[in-house]
Amino acid sequence: MNTPPLASGPEGPPSLRPLLDTVLEALGEGARARGGPLPAGGPGAVASRVRDALGDVLPDEGDPDSLRHLVRALAEGAADPADPLCAAHLHCPPLAVAAAADLAVSVLNPSMDSWDQAPAASELEALVTRALANEVYLEVPRGAGLHRYAAPPRGATGPHRPAADNDALVTTGGTESNQLALLLAREIQGPEVRLICGANAHHSLPRAAWLLGMPAPVIIPTPTGTLDPTTLHTALQSGSAPALVAATAGTTDTGQIDPLPEIAHLCAEHHARLHIDAAYGGGLLFSDRHRAKLTGLSVADTVTLDLHKLGWQPVAAGLLAVRDKNDLTALHQHADYLNADDDTEAGLPDLLGRSLRTTRRPDILKIAVTLKTLGRTGLGALVDQVCERAREFAQLVHDHPGFELHEPPTISTVLFRPANATDDAVAAVRRKLLTDGRAVLGRARAADRLWLKVTLLNPTTRPADLAGLLQLVEGTTPR
Ligand SMILES: *Cc1c(COP(=O)(O)O)cnc(C)c1O
Repeated sequence: MNTPPLASGPEGPPSLRPLLDTVLEALGEGARARGGPLPAGGPGAVASRVRDALGDVLPDEGDPDSLRHLVRALAEGAADPADPLCAAHLHCPPLAVAAAADLAVSVLNPSMDSWDQAPAASELEALVTRALANEVYLEVPRGAGLHRYAAPPRGATGPHRPAADNDALVTTGGTESNQLALLLAREIQGPEVRLICGANAHHSLPRAAWLLGMPAPVIIPTPTGTLDPTTLHTALQSGSAPALVAATAGTTDTGQIDPLPEIAHLCAEHHARLHIDAAYGGGLLFSDRHRAKLTGLSVADTVTLDLHKLGWQPVAAGLLAVRDKNDLTALHQHADYLNADDDTEAGLPDLLGRSLRTTRRPDILKIAVTLKTLGRTGLGALVDQVCERAREFAQLVHDHPGFELHEPPTISTVLFRPANATDDAVAAVRRKLLTDGRAVLGRARAADRLWLKVTLLNPTTRPADLAGLLQLVEGTTPR
């Protein structure tokens, strides 16, 4: 048997080209066979098509057509976030340029755990993460009066530290970023540190407290959808242990943003550490029109960002920004084969402390390519576009007598429900559209009722698509 071609090296590009043609054709065939935002027929039908396409997983003799067959099957059975009616989750359609950059990463296969596996990629990561951390920590949102919160007293963790000392780590997403934020808090504040967060916080935060063996978190009810400063104040007053407050900038269910300046002020007053989960809302930083909604972000000790949400990256593209990069010393790790002292002293960068992972993909390349290709203006325009679509959709819902709107959107999430429907009917509408493969809508509980949720992340969605979506839901609702 001939050795299969490698992706890198001088023969890599010519070997890859025909395979890429195959992949691109199979992607097109699969999408045409699907003919909608997701495959029709529900889990049973999809599972049986996948089983047929896969056949024997490890046959005695290989089949060179497997690339075409499996890519086509995956595409046919995909939920495609580039379809305007695929709008349930924080599941974005990736930019073509970012996917192309990611291909280069797969080919070159650098690993970010030591310089000798990723010489250029490690420098690129250092530069781009620092620049992104500066976006979070140095840029003052316009007209926002942020200066009042720019330098809170740091009684619990030492004197005020210059903002220039910030940095960011690359993660697999918001979940890992939140875990790291809690780990850093535990290492800096001690094992008794207690997480305080709203019931609106992402489930990965209390889960991280459990994972890290921290005390049970204080979960503050959020009946309005955001963390109420008065209730937070009471919680901060009643505990004696050091506290880590986690606020959310863009909740997963509604896209609402906690009152960050007030929360930051309370944290400073009570010497609590502040983490802001901006996995969703962080993308607003790119928009001149919307970034003032993030006022207060720059005083957080740590900030979760997730560019595979409002950043149009293929998964994974998470970040944890850290206001004081000295906080990262808690992650320092020594393994002689990766960062021997004499190598580090001789000038080889020590990368192990930049993640809890060892082997790690340079997800920074697609991010860097995107930032530079689109620029602040291009990215901001995408953000503005999806926020505008959400505003228009909310208006459509509001003006339609057959529907009820939860609230005007803060970012690009809209909750709505057929008027006078029961929660069971709302859930059934969503499942019917899923099973028919006609629309992918989310669900969220708010104000004690179940709502249909659209999360608009597709900048090519047109107003007419959304009018069609509303009609489709109307036609699916039993009367
Ligand atoms: C999506 C989300 C997360 C989790 O991010 P993953 O990338 O899915 O791990 C955390 N927090 C919030 C607010 C989110 O919306």
